Amino acid sequence: MTRPIIEMKNVVKSFGLFKALHGVDLQVKEGEIVVVIGPSGSGKSTLIRCINQLEEHNGGEIIVDGAEVGHGRKSTVLTEVGMVFQSFNLFPHMTVLRNVALGPVRVRGLSWAAAEDRAKRLLARVGLADQAMKYPAQLSGGQQQRVGIARALAMEPKVLLFDEPTSALDPEMVGEVLDVMQQLAKTGVTMVVVTHEMGFARKVADRVVFMDGGRIVEQGPPDEIFNAPSDLRLRSFLQAV
Ligand code: ADP
Ligand code: MG
Repeated sequence: MTRPIIEMKNVVKSFGLFKALHGVDLQVKEGEIVVVIGPSGSGKSTLIRCINQLEEHNGGEIIVDGAEVGHGRKSTVLTEVGMVFQSFNLFPHMTVLRNVALGPVRVRGLSWAAAEDRAKRLLARVGLADQAMKYPAQLSGGQQQRVGIARALAMEPKVLLFDEPTSALDPEMVGEVLDVMQQLAKTGVTMVVVTHEMGFARKVADRVVFMDGGRIVEQGPPDEIFNAPSDLRLRSFLQAV
């Protein structure tokens, strides 16, 4: 159970001359809930995008579920990584049910019937059983993001990555999405969550990672990070949020 599912060793990511990641070391264990915090531009999205190969790192190593990713390898292991974005990116011309079932059909080779069964179960789990036949535009932002979570789960990923999943939502919808994520965290799934929701980080994280300037500056259990932060940049960040 303590096997790392994600291992980043000295990971560097440059955009031209600009270094967005300056040699990041991060291990995430199976079943662990890691919350990444830090100011805008500190490299949080870049970190997540390198794990998921939406960006290719220039240096160091990223190992996901025992297989190295990047450097031209389009590893099959990436189907083991689920991603929930700030913008939900649902297909507008497909029902909610189809949106959730599509990945398992395309990537896992399930029949539509089997995939839709799975999708119905997952929609029930995120509280949307009665919305399955609607189109995304008929749902609220919070509901669409819950569909986004069901869609990621439908692939039965080994790790779920979230990049500011509530930042695009109206304030009254943030809670329903965080509640679904909190329930999910109890099921043993591995999660890496970039968020500005410090309440969520306190309550749900096993470990909080603070990034600044493309580096992990401090990390630890939430009570340590929030109650006894040692780095000055972390302290001023926490005062500002
Ligand atoms: P965060 O998610 O913490 O706000 P990002 O990872 O998005 O930060 O960005 C880190 C830094 O890298 C920022 O300075 C940003 O401008 C830069 N950056 C991110 N993506 C690109 C890109 N595709 N091209 C150039 N610079 C980028
Ligand atoms: Mg970001």
